[in-house]
Amino acid sequence: MTLYETLVTQTQMNYSRYYHVYASGSTPVKLSEKTPLPYQKQIQEFARQVNEADCIIIGGASGLSASGGGDFYYDDTPSYREHFGKFAEKYGFKGAFAGMAHPFDTRGEFWGYLVTFLHTTQHAPIREPYLDLDAILKGKDFFILTTNQDTQFVKIYPEDKVSQIQGDHRFFQCSKACCDETWDALEPVEKMFQAMGEGTSVPEEMIPRCPHCGAEAFPWVRGYGNFMQGTKYEEQYQKISDYIQKNSTKKLLLIELGVGRMTPMFIQEPFWSLTCSLPDTRYISVNAQYAFLPRQIEDKGVAIQGDIAAVLKDVRAEMEKEEIRK
Ligand SMILES: [Zn+2]
Repeated sequence: MTLYETLVTQTQMNYSRYYHVYASGSTPVKLSEKTPLPYQKQIQEFARQVNEADCIIIGGASGLSASGGGDFYYDDTPSYREHFGKFAEKYGFKGAFAGMAHPFDTRGEFWGYLVTFLHTTQHAPIREPYLDLDAILKGKDFFILTTNQDTQFVKIYPEDKVSQIQGDHRFFQCSKACCDETWDALEPVEKMFQAMGEGTSVPEEMIPRCPHCGAEAFPWVRGYGNFMQGTKYEEQYQKISDYIQKNSTKKLLLIELGVGRMTPMFIQEPFWSLTCSLPDTRYISVNAQYAFLPRQIEDKGVAIQGDIAAVLKDVRAEMEKEEIRK
């Protein structure tokens, strides 16, 4: 097992043991009791840490995309209405994920919904916080780890700089996971989306199928119990593990953006553990809901509570201000 997958697995064991603590929005880890720096000082510290780091790992989670307007997953927001409006009216869904769990009468109708979902993320523009982050990382040696399946990072960076450990909306797998293969989803999604037009259903003969067993295809994503953890999945863990191993003795900065309370095992706790164990590693987190800084790494980290889009914009402005001063 790769280094990073080992860290995730360790956290997962802890997670089941303390499930009730996480579910209540907390953490079983002992947190720092130090008074946090005022906001403006935190922004300056963020900028300073970026400038001083030899290399940076970004851990991008759901809060990052949500802060940039990708907020249609869990709520009936204006952007949900914009992309899923006909389904919201017909079925009363409140958010994109709610529709995914609906028992549709026909497979064509289910695929109409699924295709709408995939088409929306595949064609979404690169969102503002991602562009600000890109400006912050300018000229730095960095690597991206993400649990987001919405393909925002791979729209900006080459594949070898990004690990998508929860899957990617650009690929299909066999819904029965009969084989270790993924296929392009972009072209079939576009064709089905066009064929659906103003309706809510895809012609059933267009539903993509596994070339081996004939079962329906399914997006290559975790969350539905059939996520293919084969070659492509291992590659994602290999990339992040290689980057950490290559840079483990350098000044490494880990930046966690928008991790939700129910998924601390993929980015947050592995980052805490790495900050603790690697000699010259620093940690920054940004989250709209909470500011958790473990006591064990209180001298190596900053936890900023705030809107991620606003924080990244402020850090970018701070860095550009310093650039002018030089
Ligand atoms: Zn199959």
